[in-house]
Amino acid sequence: MSMEDYDFLFKIVLIGNAGVGKTCLVRRFTQGLFPPGQGATIGVDFMIKTVEINGEKVKLQIWDTAGQERFRSITQSYYRSANALILTYDITCEESFRCLPEWLREIEQYASNKVITVLVGNKIDLADKREVSQQRAAEFSEAQDMYYLETSAKESDNARQNTLVNNVSSPLPG
Ligand code: GDP
Ligand code: MG
Repeated sequence: MSMEDYDFLFKIVLIGNAGVGKTCLVRRFTQGLFPPGQGATIGVDFMIKTVEINGEKVKLQIWDTAGQERFRSITQSYYRSANALILTYDITCEESFRCLPEWLREIEQYASNKVITVLVGNKIDLADKREVSQQRAAEFSEAQDMYYLETSAKESDNARQNTLVNNVSSPLPG
């Protein structure tokens, strides 16, 4: 089996404020684990996971912003070839939600106009500390033409992950 054994290649880029759980989400999805301790740093810029969708092998190349979250420091090249963007906020952090318009401006400026954007509210295992209601997020995502779901990197939920992959994967020929 060669390294290029897939039908489609799909590039997904995670963006959103530092601390919302982007790295943990990537680790959960690609390795099935929640990193112990604070500050999950990975030494590579992207991770690979191949999934099967409707009988087709789809190779997902998932890019984590890895500490480059500050506005205007993420370059055009980072967004340019993304098929999908996962714009992440933390449901227990109002500030991470209030920054979303800034991220949308970056997307508008740098990403392809065909990019699919999914809004993800992370850390639902901390529902007792919730600062951003589902209704608010649903209204915001609808107004911006984004898919929206809530998730937890800490408490794995495969159904949610599969929904997410199916939502963002209208794959392009590799
Ligand atoms: P990033 O800066 O967006 O990459 O965020 P990290 O993935 O480094 O996570 C930041 C902090 O939030 C870490 O302390 C994680 O353990 C924690 N964290 C991430 N996802 C979750 C989650 O789903 N639930 C809880 N309770 N904590 C989380
Ligand atoms: Mg990170």
